Amino acid sequence: MTSSTDQPNSALSDSLERGNENGELSLSRDISYSTVSKDNLTPTLKHYVELKDIHPDKILLYRLGDFFECFFEDAITVARLLEITLTGKEGGKGIGRVPMAGVPHHSVIRYCMDLVRHGLSVALCDQVETTPSKGALLRREITRILTPGTIIEEGALSSRQNNWLVAIVIEGEEWGLAIADVSTGEFRVTERIGIDQLSQELGKLEAAEVLWSGTEIPRWCPDDLYVKYLTRTPFEIPQATASLLTTFQLASLDGLGLTNLKLATRAAGGLINYLNATQPMPEVATAARLLLDPPNVYFNGDQLILDTQTRRNLELTRTQRNGLFQGSFLWAIDQTLTAMGGRCLRHWIEAPLMELSLIEERQQAIGEFVAQRPIRTALRKLLKSINDLERLAGRASAGSASARDLVNLASSLKNLPTIGFILKDCTASLFLTLRKSNPELANLATLIHETIIEYPPSTLTEGGLIKEKVDVVLDALRNQLNEQNAWLSEQEQIERKNSGNSNLRLQRHRNFGYYLAVTRSKANSVPKHWIRRQTLANEERFVTPELKAREGKIFQIKNLIDQREYEVFDNLRKRVGQQGQPIRAAARQVAIIDVIAGLAEIAANRGYCCPKLVKGRLLSIDSGRHPVVEELLVEERFISNDVHLGDGNDLIILTGPNASGKSCYLRQIGLLQLMAQMGSWIPAQAACISITDRIFTRVGAVDDLAAGQSTFMVEMNETANILNHATDQSLILLDEIGRGTATFDGLSIAWAVAEHIAKHIRARSIFATHYHELNELANSINNVNNFQVLVQETGEELIFLHKVTAGGASRSYGIEVARLAGVPARVVSRAREILKTVENNTKMSK
Ligand code: ADP
Repeated sequence: MTSSTDQPNSALSDSLERGNENGELSLSRDISYSTVSKDNLTPTLKHYVELKDIHPDKILLYRLGDFFECFFEDAITVARLLEITLTGKEGGKGIGRVPMAGVPHHSVIRYCMDLVRHGLSVALCDQVETTPSKGALLRREITRILTPGTIIEEGALSSRQNNWLVAIVIEGEEWGLAIADVSTGEFRVTERIGIDQLSQELGKLEAAEVLWSGTEIPRWCPDDLYVKYLTRTPFEIPQATASLLTTFQLASLDGLGLTNLKLATRAAGGLINYLNATQPMPEVATAARLLLDPPNVYFNGDQLILDTQTRRNLELTRTQRNGLFQGSFLWAIDQTLTAMGGRCLRHWIEAPLMELSLIEERQQAIGEFVAQRPIRTALRKLLKSINDLERLAGRASAGSASARDLVNLASSLKNLPTIGFILKDCTASLFLTLRKSNPELANLATLIHETIIEYPPSTLTEGGLIKEKVDVVLDALRNQLNEQNAWLSEQEQIERKNSGNSNLRLQRHRNFGYYLAVTRSKANSVPKHWIRRQTLANEERFVTPELKAREGKIFQIKNLIDQREYEVFDNLRKRVGQQGQPIRAAARQVAIIDVIAGLAEIAANRGYCCPKLVKGRLLSIDSGRHPVVEELLVEERFISNDVHLGDGNDLIILTGPNASGKSCYLRQIGLLQLMAQMGSWIPAQAACISITDRIFTRVGAVDDLAAGQSTFMVEMNETANILNHATDQSLILLDEIGRGTATFDGLSIAWAVAEHIAKHIRARSIFATHYHELNELANSINNVNNFQVLVQETGEELIFLHKVTAGGASRSYGIEVARLAGVPARVVSRAREILKTVENNTKMSK
């Protein structure tokens, strides 16, 4: 809800002052900035139109007093999208009233974010001086360009999710990808072959903005991408290389590992180029170089591959049914306490590791925290008070940090050495690097605390930011102001004495300045040289020439103080900005510690075990539980289950009635494998797990109607993808393959798929099916075994035990499930009759 004071143009007084419905009646709505005669425009509108010519593709918001206004067609768009009043402003000789809409300056960023969410980019033109030179307009410049992928403002971003800006270059089947989060500095690039892999990467990223070096987006792109088409030039090798070299102040790209990665280099350079173009103030543009870390090259083999389908099926970051975070895997295991930790955990989930030693490093660190509860508790208490250092550093580097940002940054930096102290006796190798704190940052924190007052105001240009004895010039100005204030108090005493009026007061009004106030009854006996200024119900206000002269002086000093305070602040902000990289390095250490402590917290509280990682193709889990369903069950207890795959038992045919727990079991196994490769402990009694290169899942039948595909087509597409890409190092989890077509068709496809996986791919696989006929496979293929989810039948009752045991179910129990679901008794008994007839007929025909 917006508060009424924030509602742009809503107050009556506003609309009277700024033009109202009457004004709108005579608005020239069709007038365009691009065709209006510039010569006749008022100076303000002329400047507006000149800037608009440079930024035709952006909404231009232009600071006028306390508002940011836009005009012409932008005003019409903005009024419609933000649901604010469309007013008008006199355009100039013979032009009439041009459309105008505006928002209060103090909440402009919030409104910009709304526009950005509508897929628009916004250019902000602000005042860059407080007093104009004689006869001139106040100087105004574009100070910020906001686009979905380049915003860094507090409150504009989701704290626990990266805001990815992505650039893509494609040549045939080869592609280069650059991804950057301007708010945290992360910058990664990759280059690969195979468009399906690019589609998967894009699905994973949920990018805020995608830069495309072509003119048309291919069909396979996720639907919700916000894509910007740019000319190819910034993506060509010479320009791209130059952008990278200048930004990271390098002589060659070799050190970045980009040699021979032409498409990745082009994507990275194009992205940097775009970033520089959206940071237009010269002073900010220099600092903007600090916005990104040098690019980090990553490849497919570094990470466990999870295709889009698998990520969806395993509900990693949102639920499949309604897309909610609550109920997702991340939701269930996220106990991090900092925004940085939250983003890091998300990354660990999206890119689980392949390297044994790195996984074991994380496991050991979690193990130490599980064993050392007091350390874990002390650390987690401290982490609660650590702000988003990565993004605060980003705002300092970009020159947009507020005084409060710097104070928050300092109080967080102050806590870093304490983290090192708490970890001092820890021995896990991961902690050896993590506990080192950087003394420079502690000094920076002290400097900030010594410079800025504890609770600074939100505005930076009205003083009240800087402590005493920080700056000699400021102290001297403040002394001058104190002297003037002393003169004012003295003057009050003198005037009281002279007039014999002890109630006389010398005060200041925000608009009218200093005045002498006396009650109405004494108003006629004031000295002759007093000048009457204002009459209130029971008070008369006067000024004197001397008071007016002093007032001019005082305002002048006050202005100088405000300016000086801003200069001192800005210098400090630049110093902090220069430390952007070390602050972010520290922030990433905090993030890892936070994730480790969070995973240790759930491991300890929920009885997780540390899986033993073994070479080979083993997946052996004793009493495993589903990490999310276990948390969601309120009254029932989660029934644990084993799984043993690999070493001669590659494929399990899992049968059991609907709703007995087959899907849950499949997902559980996928998630436990993923957790193991994240380096996390897992909900189980014991486990021996080998690394897998990919997890494939096909769970449940979901119509992709939006993409115009039928259930069965989707099912077969996914199956084809699995059969074409799985290796003997993969984990395949298939649920109800063949359900989407006629029974015999479906059974035949299911049979052939299972046979192919067991005989030719030999991946560790579970094949959940209600076709109990598939149990036959175990008789003819060695590495296939039958398991079933047990149900208990007592008379007519069917009780779900959720227990997976060896052996195959002999029937489907479909009719019993229908009865449990409330299908009328008549229909259920008729179904039983029909089933008997069908079974008899089948037996007779055999
Ligand atoms: P199926 O795939 O066999 O139709 P599901 O896996 O969807 O069945 O399970 C149905 C419901 O049973 C789940 O929503 C869950 O609440 C419950 N369930 C499944 N497995 C277990 C278990 N091991 N312990 C307790 N409840 C379970």
